Parts: sequence; C-alpha cells; structure tokens
Amino acid sequence: MTPAIYLVKGREKSLRRKHPWIFSRGIQKIQGEPQLGETIDVFTHDGQWLAKAAYSPHSQIRARVWSFEAQEINQAFFEQRIQDALILRQDIIQRDGLTGFRLIAAESDALPGITIDKYQNYLVCQLLSAGAEYQKTNLVNALTAIFPDCHIYERSDVAVRKKEGLEESVGVLHGDVPPASVVIEENGVKISVDIVNGHKTGFYLDQRDSRQQSMKYVKDKEVLNCFSYTGGFGLYALKGGAKRVINADVSQPALDTAKHNAELNQFDISKKRAVFLNADVFKLLREYRDQGTKFDVVIMDPPKFAESKAQLNGACRGYKDINMLAMQILKPGGTLLTYSCSGLMDQVLFQKIIADAALDAGRSVKFVERFEQAADHPTDTAYPEGFYLKGFACKVL
Ligand code: SAH
Repeated sequence: MTPAIYLVKGREKSLRRKHPWIFSRGIQKIQGEPQLGETIDVFTHDGQWLAKAAYSPHSQIRARVWSFEAQEINQAFFEQRIQDALILRQDIIQRDGLTGFRLIAAESDALPGITIDKYQNYLVCQLLSAGAEYQKTNLVNALTAIFPDCHIYERSDVAVRKKEGLEESVGVLHGDVPPASVVIEENGVKISVDIVNGHKTGFYLDQRDSRQQSMKYVKDKEVLNCFSYTGGFGLYALKGGAKRVINADVSQPALDTAKHNAELNQFDISKKRAVFLNADVFKLLREYRDQGTKFDVVIMDPPKFAESKAQLNGACRGYKDINMLAMQILKPGGTLLTYSCSGLMDQVLFQKIIADAALDAGRSVKFVERFEQAADHPTDTAYPEGFYLKGFACKVL
C-alpha cells in the first residue's frame, strides 16, 4: 500500500489552491513508513484524497506535490510534464532564436525541486528535493525518450540539498561529459557555456529578456557592467553600440569566457572598447567614486544576497550600498539598470531600497522601466514564489 499522510484540519486550504508544499506542522498522521523521496498519498484530516506527493522527512517542507490527479508518478508522468513545458516555451524559443533555455523551472512547471536547462543537445539537471532525487531514473528515461539525441548531465552541487537529507551530486546521467564550451545563441548573441565548471547549470538564462531590453540604453555610451559573469549584459551592450564596456567580476574563468564570448560574436573590442576587470564590485565602485570616474550606464546584477529570511536585512543593506554607489558614479541623466534575484525581496521592497539609495546618494532618480525574469522562467498562478527576479531602469539626474 502506498504510504500516506493526513493533514491537520484546515491545512488542506493551500493544496486546494494548488500550492505544492506541505509543511511538517501541517501533518497530523503518517501512515506506513515512507522513505526519503518516496511517493505518498495526501489526505485531509477526514480522509478525502488530495494529491500525490514526494515525502521529505528531513525538510520543513515535508512533502511536495507531484500531482493533484490520482495518477502514477512514473516515466510517463515525467514525459507529460516535460511535453507541457516544451509547448509553453515553443513560441519564445522561436521568437528569440534560442538554442539555450530553461526547460523545467521546478515548481513553476509542476515538477518541484527539478530544474533543467537545455544548452544545444546538453540537458543539465539540478535536483534539489528528496522527491526529485528519488525519481531520477524516471526523469532521465523520460528525457531520453523525448530528446533521444541529448546528453544529460547533473549539477546538483548546491548546499540546499542538505536540508533534504541529500549529498551533493555531479556527473553524467546519460551520454557524454559536456565539453568545456557549448555555444548557445539568444537574440542573435552567441554565448559559450561551461556546463561542468560554470555557475549553477552554466549560464544565467533568466536575465535574457532584461539583457535584450538593456540594449536601448547603451548606444554610444560608457557602460559599467557590474557582476558581469561571462559577459551577459556586456555582450548586448557591445551589440547595442556602446562606446566602451567595462565588465567587472571576481571570477577570472568567467571573465576569460566573457572575452572569448566577445570574440565569438566578432564584436570590435580593439582600443579597449571592452575591458574585463577582475575586481570586487564593492571596492571598485568606491574607487571610481573617490577618483571621480563617471559612467553613462551602470548595470548592477549581483548574486542572490538573501538565501533565508534571517539574511534579508543584511541583503537590504548590501543592495542599498551598491545602488547608492552606482548612482554616485553616474553622469547626470545617466541610466542605472539594477536587478535583484533574491526571491525573498519582493518588487515593492526592492523599489524602496532604490529610493533609500537615491536619498543617500543625494540624487534625483526616476523609475522608467521594470524588468522580470525571462519568459522561460514562468510563474504559476498557484506558486507566486516562482517570481523572484525583478529589475528597474532608473534615470539618475
Ligand atoms: N549578469 C550576469 C550574471 C551575474 S551572476 C549575466 O547576465 O550572466 C553574479 C556574478 O557576481 C558572478 O559571476 C560572481 O562571480 C560575481 N560576484 C559575486 N560577488 C562579487 C563581488 N563582490 N564582486 C564582483 N563580482 C562578484
């Protein structure tokens, strides 16, 4: 018999709204002995069937729903979910000429804990929950059935797996080890991705739409691209006709790839039109401020500052600090393109932080455009947490 959990009375409300998480405090009774990641049935306190979920005994999120329909969680289930995700993305893959995109965005694609990015014919999986780990074979079989020519590589080297009682896990799941460079294309820009050694699954696909939208602000401008990683915004700035782009990051391999990417696109980077600077952005901004170096455009796309609620206050200070400094080194009428990928910081709070930064910088700042994560990172109506990346274009007087 399938193991089961019974919820505390009233705790079924979020599930009725199709939110996929069941917290430990919401569970009244466990029937059977579900193993790490095993599929369980979920019932209300009085025995009404609600969902099929994956059991996660070590996490506060004690179970994550696979399906609100009474169905087997098997290879066919994963094939269906992947096909749904593909259909959802078909138009943007064509519109933006994508050979790299997020195929599965976890809860937002009704596959909790599973992220899959596709770079050419390499699928890169990040499995973050006990259920995702438990279903690995079904998932890989489903992927090979739908994409017979694809290699599959795992990049589950993330600390959050500990909360789920899992070790980090990296390596080939099917086919060959990815080469050091897989070149993808988005919006006509070529980008080399290092799947094995790059950050996350290799590239920050989620900023694609913002990179595209940034182009209208850069023509003939002096651009400072902070936290550049492998060039991202800097490549679009070169494409958009920037006079000069300084890419700053602390990762030398990322900067080397950024330079390689500029060459790959045959952008003219002679006469120092593009600079790849190994620098701590916090220090660099202060140096520019103290020297009086000014820019027309500053792009500010830092890593996630808040991993948990406890870190949110510190994160707010960090965002305020870098944005204040960015405003101070902008010429009058300059543009700040600023982003936050901390899901715990919502758009309203981020806007307040920018407002505080403007006060401290002593500058008059106008919001002129708003940005969100790219369209292959959708937000399900039932799972608002899926909306995590937001940004603003600000004019700084
Ligand atoms: N804008 C990029 C993604 C940025 S990811 C894109 O579009 O692809 C964040 C980057 O910040 C990483 O490359 C990381 O190496 C870098 N980073 C983290 N802390 C830093 C610091 N203090 N100074 C400079 N770079 C930093």
